[in-house]
Amino acid sequence: MEIIKKIELMQEVSDKWRRGGNIISCVPTMGFLHQGHVELLSVGREKGDRLIMTIFVNPTQFGPHEDYQRYPQDTEGDLDKARSAGVDAVFMPTVEKMYPDGFQSTVTVDNITQYLCGKSRPRHFAGVTVVVAKLFNITKPHLAIFGEKDYQQLVVIKQMVRDLNMDIDIIGVPTVREKDGLAMSSRNNYLSPEERLSALSLKKGLDFAKKMVAEGERDSAKIKNAVRELILSHPFTEIDYITICDTEKLTDMENIDRPSLLALAVRVGKTRLIDNIIVRTN
Ligand code: AMP
Repeated sequence: MEIIKKIELMQEVSDKWRRGGNIISCVPTMGFLHQGHVELLSVGREKGDRLIMTIFVNPTQFGPHEDYQRYPQDTEGDLDKARSAGVDAVFMPTVEKMYPDGFQSTVTVDNITQYLCGKSRPRHFAGVTVVVAKLFNITKPHLAIFGEKDYQQLVVIKQMVRDLNMDIDIIGVPTVREKDGLAMSSRNNYLSPEERLSALSLKKGLDFAKKMVAEGERDSAKIKNAVRELILSHPFTEIDYITICDTEKLTDMENIDRPSLLALAVRVGKTRLIDNIIVRTN
């Protein structure tokens, strides 16, 4: 497995692989890998001839009071996991190389970044799109794999690729969960044992909503209220948003008359967690 820190070298390696007729898969991450990341890697491994994983904690996608400074890191552990997953190259640049003095370009996706996480994290997706566009130009993949856990991010990346004619297939992978249902996240590491118990309320809320819909409820407001109550009955929880919306446009749906996205963000103590499911009416 090659470990590459220099942008130009990564581009050369990808060029060489492309010239050799290889299909390149790319899995962008911020490191501190868990089984969710590993699942993305196994999809990339299966679909491509060469697999690149990137590790970059991108400062521009964090708000001023967010966890950029304390984002968990375990480079050695990540490299071991990458090796076991059959990664061919890990690209891990420095912040200075990615954003040299004088950097001034932006990549933004307008509408769908206004909703859900975009409301409480106003510059987040602009940070994500610029770094993902850069990582695509550096790793030159044919396909890139993202988790449905960050559903809005997946939709935003698909939109960017479509709008800007990037010749890359974007593949979504279902959320990988702990045995008790908690969606895996590097940020789960922040939770105290008591908070970890309360964090289960996210999945419980989603399951409860699914049950309400299965039993015939179609009124989004009623479902969101029930989920809100269930989550707030757990200590340390504070709701950022609970949304039922169109799966592509991400616009609110008052009635569940077609498959919809139920997405939520909840603060448990100081840790902001997100989760989602697709709700179906049949
Ligand atoms: P991150 O390192 O948190 O930026 O995540 C890197 C990629 O892994 C993103 O595409 C995430 O959506 C994906 N991911 C994170 N957690 C999970 C999970 N529990 N299941 C599936 N994919 C995930």
